[in-house]
Amino acid sequence: MVVEEAARRTPVHAICDVLVVGGGPAGTAAALAAARQGARTILLERHNHLGGLSTGGLVIWIDRMTDWSGQLVIRGFAEELLARLPKGAMAGPPREAWGSRDTATAAWWQARTAAFHGIVTHSPTCDPEWLKATSLEMLLEAGVHPIFHAWGAQPVVEGETVRGAIFESKQGRRAILAHVTIDATGDGDLFARAGAGFESDSDERDIHHAINTSWMFAGINMPEYLRWRAEFPGQFSDFMKRGKEAMGFFDKAFVSWRDDVALFMGPRLAGYSALDVEDISEVEITSHRLMLRHLEFYRAHAPGFGGAYLMLSAPQLGVRHTRRVAGVTPVLREHWDGRVAPDEIGVSPSLSPKFPNVSVPYGALVPRRLDGLLAPGRHLACDATSHSFLREIPQCWLTGQAAGVAAALAAEAGVAPRAVDIARLQATLRAQGAWLQQPVPA
Ligand SMILES: Cc1cc2nc3c(=O)[nH]c(=O)nc-3n(C[C@H](O)[C@H](O)[C@H](O)COP(=O)(O)OP(=O)(O)OC[C@H]3O[C@@H](n4cnc5c(N)ncnc54)[C@H](O)[C@@H]3O)c2cc1C
Repeated sequence: MVVEEAARRTPVHAICDVLVVGGGPAGTAAALAAARQGARTILLERHNHLGGLSTGGLVIWIDRMTDWSGQLVIRGFAEELLARLPKGAMAGPPREAWGSRDTATAAWWQARTAAFHGIVTHSPTCDPEWLKATSLEMLLEAGVHPIFHAWGAQPVVEGETVRGAIFESKQGRRAILAHVTIDATGDGDLFARAGAGFESDSDERDIHHAINTSWMFAGINMPEYLRWRAEFPGQFSDFMKRGKEAMGFFDKAFVSWRDDVALFMGPRLAGYSALDVEDISEVEITSHRLMLRHLEFYRAHAPGFGGAYLMLSAPQLGVRHTRRVAGVTPVLREHWDGRVAPDEIGVSPSLSPKFPNVSVPYGALVPRRLDGLLAPGRHLACDATSHSFLREIPQCWLTGQAAGVAAALAAEAGVAPRAVDIARLQATLRAQGAWLQQPVPA
């Protein structure tokens, strides 16, 4: 059954050079980069804050920005944002430890989610409120016009070109027209509705398919808990086993930026679609119920958790993957061989020390079909395997910043994003602090 909606005339709320829809890591970086290039930039966000999953989703463990040698490869916006956080808002290994293979140092940081494969990495945990506040100040300083509580509902498409978006808010339906629209919704809401084409394959048994609402407990003693895990691994695995038997899904506590706050980024629920409103409602209900059962179980059985209390359940649902845009040059598993993309916009650390760094091409943000549109962040063009690391927060900062610069250059030159001058894009990214492997032209 369907209902017919009456045709309507939609007021134009604003006209700009660059419209960014979604204020997560990718959208925040994109808006800042575009505004710094002189573009009149508007950012639409359905919630009341910036940062997306990195703040509202409580994904406060920022993944690796160093490669396996300890070199900082994801720079630019990523480096600037973290450097602006006040003392105490971030916890992680000091710069001199990045890349360390010292067994004791790596073991210490491994328990604190900042060492993998016996190598210390720059992957800190952050206070989400400071990430929100700092991001907002940076955008306001650059002249971005943020509009909160506004849901990007429908792209405005003329022929083969996206001309902006219609959003829903308490004011009803309004349109924003732009030279370039950046879909940074994470789920490709706009490019899907515009007909850009996308892939959505992912393995149901794989973590990338899993959805859940994260939460934090406060009043805990993290050093005591970590000591127990390290000194009594048998007791810990028995605890995990009993937890799983008791509630089906059971999750480990992760460190946060404070020793009295624990982070739970699970339990990962499979078999749901993050694009189905009934499914995501069920995930919310199950996650919130599991949070209460975890509290009871951890209080009763985990050293360091006797005084634990509920601090916060994430305002944003934790979605790892839905759609990936059908892009001009998707990143594929066979590209992890050290090649440098001619249109490189940045460099991602690889999945494991077995692989060299991965060059990220501009073409991964450019839809094959439709002009006037870019798609950075976790819905960029790549295969499912490459998505496992390209969706991480630092990589979303990287692709977001590149999209913002490209959109501003396209608006300035009056061309489509796919026609942006690549040498100028790369030079501007470097001037904004990004690190590229492409040699600097003589
Ligand atoms: C449980 C979980 C654990 C993870 N663990 C890690 C980790 O340890 N380290 C790491 O680095 N990464 C991790 N990730 C991945 C990472 O958090 C995301 O991939 C990343 O945040 C994606 O950034 P984004 O900007 O593309 O999208 P998002 O962070 O999803 O941001 C999208 C923004 O757009 C807004 N939005 C969406 N649709 C609309 C619309 N139609 N109109 C207006 N606004 C809209 C949303 O409200 C949101 O603010 C994890 C993810 C999950 C779910």
